[in-house]
Amino acid sequence: MSNQPQQIIEDNWRTVKDDVAEACHQAGRDPDSVRIVGVSKYVGPELTALLVQAGCQVVGENRPQSLWNKVQWFESQATPIPVRWHMIGHLQRNKIRRTLPHINCLHSLDSVRLASALQAEASRAGRQLTVLVEVNVTQDPSKTGLPPEQVRQLLAQADEFSSLKFSGLMAMSTQAASPPQARQEFESVRNMQLALSEEFPELDLPELSMGMSGDFCEAIQAGATLVRIGSSLWRGLLDR
Ligand SMILES: *Cc1c(COP(=O)(O)O)cnc(C)c1O
Repeated sequence: MSNQPQQIIEDNWRTVKDDVAEACHQAGRDPDSVRIVGVSKYVGPELTALLVQAGCQVVGENRPQSLWNKVQWFESQATPIPVRWHMIGHLQRNKIRRTLPHINCLHSLDSVRLASALQAEASRAGRQLTVLVEVNVTQDPSKTGLPPEQVRQLLAQADEFSSLKFSGLMAMSTQAASPPQARQEFESVRNMQLALSEEFPELDLPELSMGMSGDFCEAIQAGATLVRIGSSLWRGLLDR
């Protein structure tokens, strides 16, 4: 009985990896060109650790407080658990100082004010932070992220943020979008990435963080390099 969650998580991890590899195959892409960010927001630190032990090296959290709690638990373990944390949700400016030391990448850079505050803290701490700019490609006011024009303006100022490494874009498709609609939205993010790379050749913007459990195939077809997978990894473990 005590082994059961571990077994389930190992099976889920293998299934997700296979599904992502199959989607790459369908899209004519190298499976190594897509990294899986395991989203741990549905579970506590114990199950998150089992996911890491199953082979998931990058874990994404969408809330700073949950990230801190998990990091603290991980650090309290006798044997270190090798994990890289990505922040994938909105980061309030007053939570930067406590979050920055723990993360390798922020997927959800969504304002110039946040960029300025991150720059100040990263520079103070003497480190570089990889960031993705979150784009609201459909310009839907109910969605998070910057409209395309503001993404451009932010990247045009990139040299003011010397401690931030702008590495690409992050986006979510409209909730309950049909697969063709999701695909189309992801394609526009990809097109934006191409246009921005041309406009700002001094920046290196290879990453596209897009696709979740329900739409990662469409995202991979459109060029995703990071897929953020939550629910599929915890199948059989929640609501028991
Ligand atoms: C929850 C979440 C995900 C994962 O979504 P699933 O549908 O559970 O796979 C991905 N990205 C962000 C920003 C999230 O908050």
